[in-house]
Amino acid sequence: MKKNVTWRALKMYHGFHRAYFPLKGLETLLRNFSPYFNLWMSAEIVTALYQGRKKEEIYLLAAVTLLVNLFTRIAGAFLGRATINALETLENNQALAFYKKTLSLDYDKLENPEIRQLRRKIVENSWINGYGVTNMRWQVEWLMDDLMKLAFSLILTVEMVTLMVRASFQWLGLLLFLLVLGVEAAAIIFANVANRKAAAYWDKTGEQMLWENQFSAGTRIQGMDNRIYRQQLLLNRLEKKLNDEHLKIFGTVDKKSFLYSIPKIVFFRLIKLFTCLIVCLYCILGAFPIGSVIKYVGYLEGLINCVGNLFTRTAMLKTNRRFLKTYLEYFDIKNDMYQGSLAVEKRSDRQFEIMFRNVSFRYAGSEEDALKDINLSLRAGERLAVVGRNGSGKTTFIKLMCRLYDPTEGEVILNDFNVRKYDYRQYLELFSVVFQDYNLLSVPLGNNVASAAEWEQEKAERLLRQAGFGERYNEMPKGLETPLYKDFDEDGVNLSGGEAQKVALARALYRDAPFIILDEPTAALDPIAEAEIYARFDEIVGNRTAIYISHRLSSCRFCDRIAVFDQGRIVQLGTHEELLADEGGRYYELWKAQAQYYA
Ligand code: ADP
Repeated sequence: MKKNVTWRALKMYHGFHRAYFPLKGLETLLRNFSPYFNLWMSAEIVTALYQGRKKEEIYLLAAVTLLVNLFTRIAGAFLGRATINALETLENNQALAFYKKTLSLDYDKLENPEIRQLRRKIVENSWINGYGVTNMRWQVEWLMDDLMKLAFSLILTVEMVTLMVRASFQWLGLLLFLLVLGVEAAAIIFANVANRKAAAYWDKTGEQMLWENQFSAGTRIQGMDNRIYRQQLLLNRLEKKLNDEHLKIFGTVDKKSFLYSIPKIVFFRLIKLFTCLIVCLYCILGAFPIGSVIKYVGYLEGLINCVGNLFTRTAMLKTNRRFLKTYLEYFDIKNDMYQGSLAVEKRSDRQFEIMFRNVSFRYAGSEEDALKDINLSLRAGERLAVVGRNGSGKTTFIKLMCRLYDPTEGEVILNDFNVRKYDYRQYLELFSVVFQDYNLLSVPLGNNVASAAEWEQEKAERLLRQAGFGERYNEMPKGLETPLYKDFDEDGVNLSGGEAQKVALARALYRDAPFIILDEPTAALDPIAEAEIYARFDEIVGNRTAIYISHRLSSCRFCDRIAVFDQGRIVQLGTHEELLADEGGRYYELWKAQAQYYA
């Protein structure tokens, strides 16, 4: 990776809301100004009292202190509010950017196991110490805080040193600073060792968490399985094992970092004591007035703390680097699917023909081809049924047709041109698909059917009825405005699997595409609903080219041709009668297996 990782991540993060860091900086400045100002004013007041100055002068000093405090409090409150709001926006934008990146990935990348791991890692890192961008934000904020404290302390230190130099004992001042430097050097070494140990621990924990979450993903959400199979017992056991291990590592790290911190603390205490003595000594020698003792001791202590903190921050930023690297790596993934520019012809006659020519395909990370040497051409308006056992490649065939993936070998051709040559968006618009694991959104029914912000009332209603959703629809007083599911709306309606499938079918029909692909479109339907769909199949499909995947062979009779998939190959292709005539064929075997239950 080129350039400094933290710097790159910070620039990107700042881009999520440009007002945040300036606001936070201002707020930090104001917050730090107050105590130093008060310390400074206290010194002035003590000195004035000691010198027996006029009452009015002292009152004036007190009044200025109060007024400035009042102002900083009020301004601080306003700034604090603005900062919190800005942070909210920033975090929303950050989440959105991550989400957008995910959605914009080429489909093969979206599904790629390594990239999925990366995505999961980023999310899970953020759960531990906010590692990644959140941790970076904390460190940067603390760094700003320390730097400001340091700046204030330095101003006063310079003043003090000047006064000391003016008084005679210059070597004493020098000695003091050499000692400060020495202690700091020791502190850095200790801090670094402790941090390195901590980082190693977090790495290990991170990996375990990843594994644990993979295991529990889905099972914990699926409360039903969980209860029936008492998975909780298994999970508890695994969790206990992990926890024990966490505690063991954490205990070691804790003990070590505690041991490292003892000399650090002792050194710091000693140096502070020493500082105190030196300042008092100089005061007695007349280098500065009595009130300044309060001021200088306070500031010097601040200075020492700040320098210590600065080193801790930089060490922590360094620890976080590996997590930022993971974060950036995700955003750096480039889409490399070839994007053609050829416009897809607009044809009202829907004369689109698709041909698979010697197509083979293998999923990333897989040892075997999911499709092998597929040759098939689809005439416009044809109805093709695709059948075969689980895992025989039917869905993969559809994914390649829709160009969610490009073939590993061979080509898919639309009206004489390789589909890669076409403008991708336009090409996708040729297809209406009801995937097996289709996804409805928790938004109003109308938006779901139209897949858009606006919908045509009459068309949406007609298609919902055509898809068999009519009865349920009549029960909805809000009609197409009815929100689906209760994620965002208490009044949302929950749909059964069959109802949802009908809505998904209506959505496919709403997009008036020349190809309609139905992957097990009736799997969740009851026999009556299924029979209704079949009865209206012609009406539903119209003059579109239809590809129909089904396990129910009886439903494939509606189709002109049937392609039988087996282990990634098309082993048979023909009409129902032709295929059934071949008694040694796969189709006959599948048919027999089903028919025995209906005989
Ligand atoms: P079908 O739709 O006929 O049930 P699929 O096309 O879904 O079959 O799967 C064909 C083969 O490809 C199976 O062996 C399956 O395990 C594998 N496969 C499917 N999806 C993926 C994926 N995203 N990554 C790796 N292998 C996959």
